[in-house]
Amino acid sequence: MRVNIIGGGLAGCALAYVLKNNGAEPVIYEASSCLAAGASGNDVGLYNPRLSAHFDGMAQFYSDGFFQALEVFGHFGDAIDWNPCGALTLMTNERRIKRFRKTMASWDWSEEDMRLVSAQEATDIAGVDVPNECLYLPRSGNISPKKICHEYARGVEVHLNHAVDDLEALEGDVSVLACGIACLGFEEAARIPLSTVRGQVSYVAQTEATKDLKVALSYGGHFAPARDGVHCVGSTFQPWDERIDLREEDDSANLEKLFSVFPHLDGNYDIKGRRASMRTTSRDHFPVIGQLSDGVYISTAHGSYGILSSLVSANMLSNFIVGGGYAVSAEIESALSFTRFKG
Ligand SMILES: Cc1cc2nc3c(=O)[nH]c(=O)nc-3n(C[C@H](O)[C@H](O)[C@H](O)COP(=O)(O)OP(=O)(O)OC[C@H]3O[C@@H](n4cnc5c(N)ncnc54)[C@H](O)[C@@H]3O)c2cc1C
Repeated sequence: MRVNIIGGGLAGCALAYVLKNNGAEPVIYEASSCLAAGASGNDVGLYNPRLSAHFDGMAQFYSDGFFQALEVFGHFGDAIDWNPCGALTLMTNERRIKRFRKTMASWDWSEEDMRLVSAQEATDIAGVDVPNECLYLPRSGNISPKKICHEYARGVEVHLNHAVDDLEALEGDVSVLACGIACLGFEEAARIPLSTVRGQVSYVAQTEATKDLKVALSYGGHFAPARDGVHCVGSTFQPWDERIDLREEDDSANLEKLFSVFPHLDGNYDIKGRRASMRTTSRDHFPVIGQLSDGVYISTAHGSYGILSSLVSANMLSNFIVGGGYAVSAEIESALSFTRFKG
């Protein structure tokens, strides 16, 4: 079965990968001159599930995504700069302490996948001073979102510089909108409450103080262990801003946030690069996945967790389109459907 996929970011490429593995013929249409041209084009991203206090349907969705991703990342390995270094989520205030203690109690993950660690244990794990108790996910870590898009799309028919504006003009009976905020340009999706959030990541040279960092740090920002001497630090979160120009002040904002939690890392950093793009989010900040109308599906609003949610959504949509594989509960299906915004 031919499936047209509109958009060549994480959502579209992950879907193409899963459909191809399930015997379908995905075809990607990408408006830009390369894959991963939008939010998915960063060199480094953190794959951590969205950690909620209670283990509800959406927690199940992100939890499933995490374990599905470990298998896929293990398969791609170095080709996607996979670094399963572990991630420490800092409990920097009372609200985060309460929330992550509840996460620990309600998520049914084994100790080898999630545990609370004291500030001293976190410091031993991290290789730099960590001032707070943390939620530690030893199998979390970093990949290159840009590289995984290319790996997902390997062997898939891709049409670059091809902005789709009319699904009827495409061959085949099934199309999937995976084009971020541009989904709003299609009649079937025009009323879904989607919006964008600008984000900039900064790439900084390691220093004496940071060179021993061994895990990804998550503290409201994200600081990744150095790769070839360069750390990724991010990201700004600017819902009011619709431009993707590159800004020195956003590098400063990323570093200031890091220093506010890790004062001993304060210092002069050599900025090696930066990248800005737009996240797409929905009114309730969860993805929008599922069937829109006969033969038309959607995968968008992956927000700040697109590395995992794009893959679990791809598995879910593949089940809808070609059957078999990963089936979600009715609760998850309706929590992700565009129909939740009706009425
Ligand atoms: C600064 C920043 C840091 C982030 N860090 C992380 C992180 O650490 N971990 C994590 O999990 N997530 C992170 N995210 C979120 C993640 O990057 C996104 O959720 C994910 O990339 C969304 O993928 P997507 O395919 O839905 O959208 P996009 O990557 O934006 O892809 C949409 C594609 O559709 C194309 N398109 C648009 N219109 C059309 C059309 N009409 N026809 C054809 N193609 C079209 C666009 O050119 C684009 O390539 C971050 C995001 C940002 C901005």
